[in-house]
Amino acid sequence: MRTRRSSATLFTTVALAATALTATSLRAQKMALASPDDVARIATLPTVRASFAAIEKDNAWTLDQQLSLCQIPAPPFKEVKRGEAFRDRLIALGVQHVHVDKTGNVIGEIVGSRPGPTVMLSGHLDSVFPEGTNVTVKREGTKFSAPGIYDDCRGLAAVLSTARQVITNKVPFAGRLLVVGTVGEEGPGNLRGVRAIFSSTLKDSIDAFISVDGVGFNITNGAVGSNRYRVSYVGPGGHSYSAFGMPNPIHAMGRAIAKIADLQATTNPKVTFNVGVVSGGTSVNSISDKGVMEIDLRSESAAALAAIDAKLQRALRAALAEERARWPLSKVPLDITIDTIGLRPAGRTAETSPIIRVALAASKTMQLVSALTGNSTDANIAIGMGIPAMTIDGGGKGHGAHSLGEWYDDGTDGYKGPQWVLLITLGLLGVK
Ligand SMILES: [Zn+2]
Repeated sequence: MRTRRSSATLFTTVALAATALTATSLRAQKMALASPDDVARIATLPTVRASFAAIEKDNAWTLDQQLSLCQIPAPPFKEVKRGEAFRDRLIALGVQHVHVDKTGNVIGEIVGSRPGPTVMLSGHLDSVFPEGTNVTVKREGTKFSAPGIYDDCRGLAAVLSTARQVITNKVPFAGRLLVVGTVGEEGPGNLRGVRAIFSSTLKDSIDAFISVDGVGFNITNGAVGSNRYRVSYVGPGGHSYSAFGMPNPIHAMGRAIAKIADLQATTNPKVTFNVGVVSGGTSVNSISDKGVMEIDLRSESAAALAAIDAKLQRALRAALAEERARWPLSKVPLDITIDTIGLRPAGRTAETSPIIRVALAASKTMQLVSALTGNSTDANIAIGMGIPAMTIDGGGKGHGAHSLGEWYDDGTDGYKGPQWVLLITLGLLGVK
């Protein structure tokens, strides 16, 4: 059973977090999600059938949202313009209380016809591409090519489509639907958008969190956690010949990399480690004053991630000690600094949980094949907190996310993506 919160408590806390949401919405309390057994029936309701038909008939509208949002650059930490466009579209659709929070997330609300759960449906606004990247979409038939075309403009389009259908067809769903565009999903952003949402008191009323991100019909219920560090070995440096005999930061880093390369990790649960970036040094005949590397550790298991992290920390310090010991007569210092550049919690939403069963029931109802997978997405934060959460695909096909060659193909049945997203959302909220 969920704990019910009093309206008064919720009013104060939510009002502080999101002043734009009005008193009506603040009455929301944690509620049970609708039953997975109800999804097939929901799909037969006249308003839902009308929504499905409209999504198929108006597929060009969905694609236009996807394409036009993609052509607004949204580099990490510079999502403002795309966010404003997304906000304006939510307002135009009739979504209520649309606002941009302090972090830059765009949040709007659609209130249902009777009390029920609160479901947050989101896509992420940011791309991985730096400023100046050409984001003009090239179209050949049903295939669209541009950086960010599906990651995550497909997700944003699916969120808009869902909002549009429930409003225009007056779908009598229960509870309330929060429609959201988040900032900072990609690497450098370190999930700062959802992190802000789930550290605000808004989280107290969220019964289920869905991020739409990716192509196809898979369901990401495993949150691959990651610990990322920038490690610097630092000394005074000097001439490679005349100052020889002192600890060498790059050599220390080399010792560390050799140890990292030999780390033993389990395959079940999967654990990975990677030194992804190395730098340091100014010339071939100088002892560098620093050796710097960036390291990524990942696992779906929080315990396994903690275990590999402990091994890494030992390896980094052992390398430092060995390089110091290599030159026992040297008075020159050698130090290490370890900066955390990303932490994403690991975890898993159980396959038997209502949220996953609703998603699978929607797939079954629509005769779609969905696999359960693990990844690092906006859902990580909620999953790490034990809030029912998942990331679902937005239909279609695609390839090359995070590369300049990214493409999306809507094929002949791309519209099934937004239909599936709508059915899952309604399945969680419940419809009479
Ligand atoms: Zn993404």
